[in-house]
Amino acid sequence: VERLELDDLLPIITRSVNRVMGTVNCLLLLRQGSTLLLAAQEGLEPELVKAFGEMEVGESLSGWVAEHGQPLVTADMRSEARARFPELADRYNYRSFLCVPLRHGSEIMGTLEVLTREVRHFTLEEQAVMAAFADQAAVAISNARLYEQARAHLLQVTESNRRLEELDRLRQQYLRNVSHEFRTPLTVIKGYAEYLRDSPPASEAALRDVMRVMVESSDRVIDMVDTLLEVSRIEHDSAQQSLQIARLELRDIVQASIEPLRAAAERKRLSLELDLPEQALVLEGDGGLLVQVVRKLVDNAVKYSLEGGRVAVRCRRADDGLQLEVEDAGIGIAPEHLPRIFDKFYMVDGGIARRAGGTGVGLYLVREIVRLHRGSVSVRSAPGAGSLFEVRLPCQYRPSEPAATVA
Ligand code: ADP
Repeated sequence: VERLELDDLLPIITRSVNRVMGTVNCLLLLRQGSTLLLAAQEGLEPELVKAFGEMEVGESLSGWVAEHGQPLVTADMRSEARARFPELADRYNYRSFLCVPLRHGSEIMGTLEVLTREVRHFTLEEQAVMAAFADQAAVAISNARLYEQARAHLLQVTESNRRLEELDRLRQQYLRNVSHEFRTPLTVIKGYAEYLRDSPPASEAALRDVMRVMVESSDRVIDMVDTLLEVSRIEHDSAQQSLQIARLELRDIVQASIEPLRAAAERKRLSLELDLPEQALVLEGDGGLLVQVVRKLVDNAVKYSLEGGRVAVRCRRADDGLQLEVEDAGIGIAPEHLPRIFDKFYMVDGGIARRAGGTGVGLYLVREIVRLHRGSVSVRSAPGAGSLFEVRLPCQYRPSEPAATVA
């Protein structure tokens, strides 16, 4: 009863039964639904182990005991109509059989049984010993099961705790990054505003340059605020209901999304290639959110590309909907980070990656928006070999379907 591991406990039971009953063949079957599974045995031939490995409750001698909760004793199995494999028992010369239920409260957990080659008439006393043994075994098995459940729960709780701690760490990192990301463009705007106030530039061209930088920096701040607003919107319980679904043209969405990114691409001397088909790519969705999907993916592709690289955005009709691909030839992502890059706040901490800035919510937002549209997003990438993000969206919006997962 002190043994808590089922794998240790069950063979001890069959071994002990053989010792106590003076037998050499003992089987312990445990019930799983309507099936009896051979959980432990001692002394049985492999062919019989296979044959008795799985039986139905109600069928066979053991199945009868499991169904009725009554012991069953027979001096010669060959004359037993309920025997499942009488010819096998005969071939291996088995004759007598004593089987008792493993009972815990009102539940019949399985059976405990001994087989003998000699014809043996089990006395009432022997049957009582076997039944008492089965009661003890049932308590021990039930304790071991409880222990296993408790251990599994503990593992779950430990895992949840670990995830919470990790999320908290990421959240703190996110707060630091977000503050930094806000501060940088605001500092630029303030610096240029002071410059304009104290010593206005002499030429029109210089003034335009200053203004351009200020506008771009303001755009960055607005973009970040928008992202934060979108995150809180899609995380709202009623996000699905608040979607503004309309008939959209994916090619227009792509064009509108990447326009503001052209300047950043040009600064890095990147070629930003658009591959859009001639025919219409109509889908139902929330235009504002889908623009964010394309923008985040292309923004990342630009951000994580090296000077002079190439970013390609492709759209096409796929078998079951529309497909959008954003490909870059940039720094790529190491395999150990790939499963996590869509997690909230997750950022790959590489030198170049960090220098590229960011807050770790972009891909999370992409995944959640795509999920709200019952689509899927996947990535293929390798360090130094660039990345390919693929989004698949159904043409028709179906709110009631279960959300697709990230591949
Ligand atoms: P971030 O604001 O840090 O860009 P994202 O959620 O958009 O956050 O991306 C998560 C991480 O995935 C990034 O920190 C970056 O390391 C990696 N990543 C995303 N897109 C790319 C890409 N196109 N190439 C390389 N790494 C990428």
